[in-house]
Amino acid sequence: MEQLNQLSIRDQNLKRVYQEICNTKGSSRASVARKLSLSKASLSSLADELIVDNLVTEKGKKVKTGLGRNPVMLAPKENTNFIVSVLWKNGYVEGYIIDIASGNAWPSGGDGRLILSVDNPEDYARVALVCAKGLTEKLGSVQRVLGTVMIIPGIVDPVREQILSYPLDITEDIGYQIIQDLIENHSDENICLMNDTAALAYGEKFLNHWEDPDFFYVNFAVGIGSVFYMHGKPLEDATGRQTQFGHIVINPNGPLCECGSRGCLEAMIGEKAVRKRWELIFRESGDMKLGEGNYYRVLREKAENHDIEAVAAMDEIAYVFSWALSNVVTVIYPHRVIIGGSGYELGETFLEKVRSKVQEIGYSYMVRDLQVNYSKAEKDIIYKAGAQYAFDTHYNFALKSIQGLHLG
Ligand SMILES: [Zn+2]
Repeated sequence: MEQLNQLSIRDQNLKRVYQEICNTKGSSRASVARKLSLSKASLSSLADELIVDNLVTEKGKKVKTGLGRNPVMLAPKENTNFIVSVLWKNGYVEGYIIDIASGNAWPSGGDGRLILSVDNPEDYARVALVCAKGLTEKLGSVQRVLGTVMIIPGIVDPVREQILSYPLDITEDIGYQIIQDLIENHSDENICLMNDTAALAYGEKFLNHWEDPDFFYVNFAVGIGSVFYMHGKPLEDATGRQTQFGHIVINPNGPLCECGSRGCLEAMIGEKAVRKRWELIFRESGDMKLGEGNYYRVLREKAENHDIEAVAAMDEIAYVFSWALSNVVTVIYPHRVIIGGSGYELGETFLEKVRSKVQEIGYSYMVRDLQVNYSKAEKDIIYKAGAQYAFDTHYNFALKSIQGLHLG
């Protein structure tokens, strides 16, 4: 027990030092020690361990100049430690190798992507592992892969040991089988499974450096996901279990939702629902890909061209979304709402309508200062954020490993 506690303290101390070195992108031993209130001897021992583990490197050897010595700077070691980030999409998986020190995909120039098709929902994890292996084989012998993160548009449930994803047709039974296979056959392979919206929200917080400690992130994808950050942390974990904003019931007599309820937000204004509406209004069959905001975009374009029915549909989407959002704000009181995923395809007029509708519908005391904005994240942020989350959350600095399988 005592040994476990010591390892845990060592892990926390190494992590603090590593994060401080990453935050400053280059600091002397003395300045890190000062900042973290550690003795020079303790800091030196921790820094040396990080150097041996190849996470940190020394830059600028001591050189005597007329002005004294240049201190040796500690910096995160780039091009050395990687996490493979694989996103499960409808019918395929897409993977990148992410350099943990720089946060960028490797190799630079954008040719490090691997896409593999998935024919059956049962096969997502298996194909994702093949994808990770294919990407890893491109690395050199001094480069180390710490693990694989699989990012899933659905719930990753560590208690029931299952996945549930409507966009990927992964039912509870299939999701259970996937997890059991990972536990039985891959538990020593350093794999993390996480929810896609949790990864995107992590990207907002840590890669885009939002200062707000409390924000509500809404992901417009095939369904509608959300994550609430409270006091700078996601509510509970990255499983996607905690907040099911897309399944707030707007109209109990409304259209049937995939969750089994009626009139959920997702069943009213998710992209699938908007496609249905599009087909009804324009009597065209919608054969565009779901999940990339195509139907939000074409509806918005029709509305911008003053098509009366498209304008009415856009107004209704804004109204329904504002209604759901106003109720959420009375429960959790966030400072900021970030609309991510393909939500930006709904356009500026939609955003303006939501802002004014929330003021009209919501409890004035709580919505008065609420900021509602589109995410400004770059398109591939989900891969970087997933890898960063897996490293920040699951890498054990004392044991020098991600340590097996993690759900969420
Ligand atoms: Zn539902």
